[in-house]
This record gives sequence, C-alpha cells and structure tokens, in this order.
Amino acid sequence: MEITTRIRRVGDGTANSYLVESSGEVTIVDAGAPGHWRDLPIELAAMGRTLADVRTVVLTHGHSDHIGFAERIRRERGVPIRIHELDAALARGEVPNPAKGLGPFRIVPLLRFLIWGVIHGALRTPRIAEVSTFGDGATLDVPGTPRVILLPGHTPGSAALHFAGHDALFIGDAIATYAVTTGAVGPQIAPFTADRSAALASLGQLDGLEAGHLLPGHGQAWTAGVAEAIRRVRATKP
Ligand SMILES: [Zn+2]
Ligand SMILES: [Zn+2]
Repeated sequence: MEITTRIRRVGDGTANSYLVESSGEVTIVDAGAPGHWRDLPIELAAMGRTLADVRTVVLTHGHSDHIGFAERIRRERGVPIRIHELDAALARGEVPNPAKGLGPFRIVPLLRFLIWGVIHGALRTPRIAEVSTFGDGATLDVPGTPRVILLPGHTPGSAALHFAGHDALFIGDAIATYAVTTGAVGPQIAPFTADRSAALASLGQLDGLEAGHLLPGHGQAWTAGVAEAIRRVRATKP
C-alpha cells in the first residue's frame, strides 16, 4: 500500500515492512513476517521496481516479527541485512528475546495476532545467518541515506531511521500506533518492550526532529507530527 509516492508498506498494518525508493534503488526497512515475501514483488512493481533493485534491508531491531524474510532475501538475492550492533545477536538468534512476558492483553486482539502469525509464517521465522552492523548517529550509505537514532528500551539496539529526503521517520517498535496484544490504537510504547522506562526516556532523543510521516512497526502511519506522537505516548498509561 502507498504511504507516499516513494514509500510503500508491505502487509496490512499488523507488522510492517516498508519499501523506500531513491533514484531507482530500494531500501527495505524491516522484513515483517516470512509470508510478506509473497507480497514483496507486488509492492515493488507498484513503484516500478523489482527485487533486483533492492540494495539492502535495514532493521529497526532484532525481534522476530521484523526479520521475517530477511534471511531469505540475503540468501537468495545476496541482499545485505543491516542492524544496530546491540541487536545483532538477537537477529542471529544467539540471545533470547529481552522482553519479559506478554504484558497486558485482551483475548480477541491477541488471538487475531496469533492467527495472523500462523497465516504469515511468523511462528517459525528463520534467524539471520549474517548481518552488518551500524552504530548510533551513523548515516547509512544505502538508498535514501537514513540517519540512525538509537532508542534503547524496546530492545537494547532499537533504532529509528530518519530519511530526511523522504520526510519520513521509521520508528520500529519505539512507538507503535497499534498494540497487537490489546488492540489499542494511537501512539504508545509497543508490547514486548524490555524496559519501559528506558523506552520512554529514549524518546527525548527525538526532540526537535520533524517528519511528515512517522512510520511504526505496528499500526498505521502517523502524520500529525513527531512531537505530538511523543506527547501522546507519554500521556498513555501502561
Ligand atoms: Zn519489537
Ligand atoms: Zn514488533
């Protein structure tokens, strides 16, 4: 689905993978679930591109619902996978998920998410055999030249990616606009966050940053400003 003329989202908003086009080349931000592989050529074609135009996959963090087809595109197409150095071991499956348990939930949204996971192969996501890493503040030499902003809390290596030329901030799970466990809509700390207070404190790193499109790992795009999203997250009760 189109977010802007140069950004498309793969999937229905439950767990998001985004395509960012720049001068005919594509950076993929997050790799959703394995089942998104089927939709990838269709979304690429909608922006006039093919798998051959994909230069890299950049991951906002190492959770399994963000690395879905990463190993497949790496192995089959030789596309390099990038992630912050503090989440590399998580993406490679060398350390357990740092999140402690499920947190609050409602049964209907949770069941819906589980069924979505079964349909999209998210219960058996392959780990990534090999990743390249980046650090906080880096500007990546990939299509769209995103700048990395480390936002630890959801996971230690959670990072936002600011594509200034696209007026877009990919926030991963530092902010969700849909909670898969409760069904709550609107900017909030995502479920499965390892350290909620660290996650809230990290949002201060985004002070003064503006982007017309705030694009979360779960839920719809937010277009009412980064500052307003952060204000709403801080006003939300756990
Ligand atoms: Zn996550
Ligand atoms: Zn997630």
